[in-house]
Amino acid sequence: MKVCVACQANVENKAAVPIKEDRIIRTIRAIKKFFGVAQMNELYVCEADLPKHMERRRSFERTMLFASIFAGLVIILLLYSIISSGRFDAWAMVSAFVVALFVLALPLFRYTPAVELGMAQPPKPPPPVPMPEPEEPEEPEERPERLAKKKPRAKAKKKR
Ligand SMILES: [Zn+2]
Repeated sequence: MKVCVACQANVENKAAVPIKEDRIIRTIRAIKKFFGVAQMNELYVCEADLPKHMERRRSFERTMLFASIFAGLVIILLLYSIISSGRFDAWAMVSAFVVALFVLALPLFRYTPAVELGMAQPPKPPPPVPMPEPEEPEEPEERPERLAKKKPRAKAKKKR
């Protein structure tokens, strides 16, 4: 089943963007499989939740960045104190590494996966319902086009 990670809704027939399978998601999957509770859903973010999701993702990336910088500083401070004092303190070293790991693990509580913006799933028309006589022409919906039109632009801009 294709599921939105934000609202848990089935996005089988909706416009949605797939979630990037990163190391954290693969790890969670492996753990779930180990315990036999894996649902093997395909993870998506539906179009309606996308702006909110991108905002959360940005804030998660920022937190992760600061955590890495802070953890790096802790390690540098540790090395500096070893070099400047000239003696090796095993306990200081262990506690510094514990602090660094803790700082790195904290942002994971607000983990927000990245999305594959180039691979947006176009909305599929709902499964054909047996209609007796199609007399009135259906009003065209403009909504589904939006996501599809946006994606080439977003990709071109992402130059590195
Ligand atoms: Zn959703």
